[in-house]
Amino acid sequence: MADYPFQTKIAPVFRERLCIEGWKRLKLRLSDDHSKGAVMQITVIGSGYVGLVAGACLSNVGHRVTCADVDAAKVASLSDGQVPFFEPGLAAIVKKNLEAGRLQFTTDVEMACRQGAIIFIAVGTPQGDDGSAELRYVHSVAESIGNCLSGGENMLVDGCKIVLTKSTVPVGTTDAVSEIISRTAQLPYVVCSNPEFLKEGDAINDFRKPDRIVVGTPETELGTLAQSVLRELYEPFTRTRERIQFMAVRSSELTKYAANALLATKISFMNDLSNLAERVGADIEDVRQGIGSDPRIGYQFLFPGTGYGGSCFPKDVKALTHSGEQHGHRLQILEAVDRVNNQQKTILLRKVTAYFEQDLSGRKIAVWGLAFKPRTDDMREAPSIELVNGLLDAGATVVAHDPEAMANAVQIFGDRIELKDNHYECLDGADALCVCTEWSVYRRPQFDELVTRMRQSLIFDGRNLYDHARLEKHGIRYYAIGRGEPLPV
Ligand code: NAD
Repeated sequence: MADYPFQTKIAPVFRERLCIEGWKRLKLRLSDDHSKGAVMQITVIGSGYVGLVAGACLSNVGHRVTCADVDAAKVASLSDGQVPFFEPGLAAIVKKNLEAGRLQFTTDVEMACRQGAIIFIAVGTPQGDDGSAELRYVHSVAESIGNCLSGGENMLVDGCKIVLTKSTVPVGTTDAVSEIISRTAQLPYVVCSNPEFLKEGDAINDFRKPDRIVVGTPETELGTLAQSVLRELYEPFTRTRERIQFMAVRSSELTKYAANALLATKISFMNDLSNLAERVGADIEDVRQGIGSDPRIGYQFLFPGTGYGGSCFPKDVKALTHSGEQHGHRLQILEAVDRVNNQQKTILLRKVTAYFEQDLSGRKIAVWGLAFKPRTDDMREAPSIELVNGLLDAGATVVAHDPEAMANAVQIFGDRIELKDNHYECLDGADALCVCTEWSVYRRPQFDELVTRMRQSLIFDGRNLYDHARLEKHGIRYYAIGRGEPLPV
C-alpha cells in the first residue's frame, strides 16, 4: 500500500472499500450509506483553471486530492505552492491544503488514477481545425483510466471507480470515454457527466456556491450509486439549498453548451444592436437599461463591447454548431452569433483606422487591458489580440498595460509591443488610447494627466466606461460602442 501517501489518513469507511482484487472476485456493494463527512480520495486530471479550482476547493473541505497534469513545469510550480496563472483567491487555498497534506500534484496520470476513487477529467477541449471540440486529451485520459483499472491496486468507492467528465465535451463524449475505458478495464467503473459552470475571475466563489451542479448519470445501478456518492461529495457546497440537478448523461453534456451558447447569443445580440444604435443616433447604454429592467430579460450579459473571447464561448459556440451539422441540423442562430462576434472583435481597429483615414503608419497607440475580461490573466481569444495585431500590421506602434496579463502578452506578442507596469506610462506621446478590458483601475482615470501625457487627446473605448460630456470638458475626443459620434466603419 506504499503507493498511497494518504492511505493511513483516509476514513475507515473508505479504507474498507479499497478493492485490490480482480473485479470478478469483487462483491459489488451498492449502498447509499456513505457516512456524512467521510473523507474521499479524489483525483483531478488537468490542473488548469477548472481542474485546479475543483481540486483546491475539494481539498479545502477535507477531501484528499491528487491533481495530475502532463505539464511538468506546471506541476513543479504547483508542488511548490505557486499557481502559474491568476485566479483571485486560488493561490491561498492551494498553499493551505498543500501544507495540510490534503492536496498533491503529480505528472504521473496513471498513478493518480489509481489513487482516486472519484476521478475528474478536467483537461482542455480546444477548438479543432474544423470547429469541433478536440477530444484527444480527454481520450488519452480515458486510456490511462482504463489501464489503471486493468489490474493492480486501485482505490474504489463501493467497489467501483467513479469517473466524471468535467471538461466541456460534445454530446456522446462521456459514453465514448466509458467505451475507451472498457477496452482495458477489469474493475468496475461508471462514467458520468459533471460539466463545470465557473467563471474565471470568480471561480472560487462559483465552485463554493454554485448556482447549480449538473450531473448526468447512466440509468444503471452504478449510475444510482454515483448519484449517492456525488450528493455526498458536493454536500459541503449545497448546504443552503439543493443545487444538484441529476439528469441523463447526454442532457448534461448539452446543458453546458446550451448555457454558454445562450450567454454568447446575448452578447452578440447587443453588439449587433449597438452598431445599429450608432447609425440611428440612439444610445445603446440607455437601450441596455431599458431592456435589462425587464425581469424576463435581465441585466446580465447585455453589455456591448468588442466581442466575447476567452477559452470557452468562442470554441463552445463553434463546437455546438459543428455538432448540429454532424447531426443534420444547422444551428442558424449560433452561426450568426459567431459571425457577429468575429466582426465585433475588429470594431476598435476599424474605428481607429477610420479616424486616421486609413493611415496608421507612425502612429503610437496605447492599449489598456489585454485579458479577455477583468480579474483574469487569460488572453485566449481576447479581442485585444485582434486589435494589437491589426494596429501593428497597419504600421502603428503599440504600448500596452494589463494588471495581470502581461506575462501572457509577452508569450503572444514577444517584443512587437511595449508593455508598461503603469498604465499612465503607456500614454506618453500616444496618438490614441484604446480601452479593451474593463479592469477597475481604468474606470476612473485622471483625465488631466491623460491629456498632459498624450500627443492627441483621443479615446476609443471598447467597454463604454466613460461619460462623453465629462470627456468633452477635458477636451478629449471620445468614441465608444453604440453611442455618441459614429465613424464610417
Ligand atoms: P486549461 O487549458 O487551463 O487546463 C487544461 C490542463 O489540462 C492543462 O494544464 C494541460 O496541461 C492539462 N492536460 C492536457 N492533457 C492532459 C492529459 N492527457 N493528462 C493530464 N493533463 C492534461 O483548461 P481549462 O480552462 O481548465 O478548461 C478545461 C475544460 O473545462 C475545458 O473543456 C473547458 O472548456 C472547460 N471549462 C473551462 C472554463 C473556464 O472558465 N476556463 C469554465 C468551464 C468549463
